[in-house]
Amino acid sequence: MSLHGFLTMAQKMAYKSTYKQKVGCVIVSGGRVISKGYNSVAHKSRGKKFAKWECSICAERHAASKVRDKSAMKGATIYVSRWNSFGPAMACPCSHCMELIEFLGIKKIVFSRVEYPYYGVVKL
Ligand SMILES: [Zn+2]
Repeated sequence: MSLHGFLTMAQKMAYKSTYKQKVGCVIVSGGRVISKGYNSVAHKSRGKKFAKWECSICAERHAASKVRDKSAMKGATIYVSRWNSFGPAMACPCSHCMELIEFLGIKKIVFSRVEYPYYGVVKL
């Protein structure tokens, strides 16, 4: 599947969110989707993870938490899509998720953004 295909999949995950700022993500390894997530209310949160609204944008954490074998995420790509009533929005991971992504060994982040071409790429 193409970059756009995975981003669209992340966007579909975002629609599951009950937040106004909807964020979805998929983690892809070896061309295969190994997990999907979306930002959700703090039912799984502990302490400060979801304290600020910025930190509630943690579709990444949600998706990563569902992968049992964390080593499967080494070298993976994470697609993050944020969606609001105006369309695609900046979905570059927050600093907490960046730390997590680096810790897991994820090598590439593709995120939605407002400006053309509506996505950005970060290589780690
Ligand atoms: Zn986050």
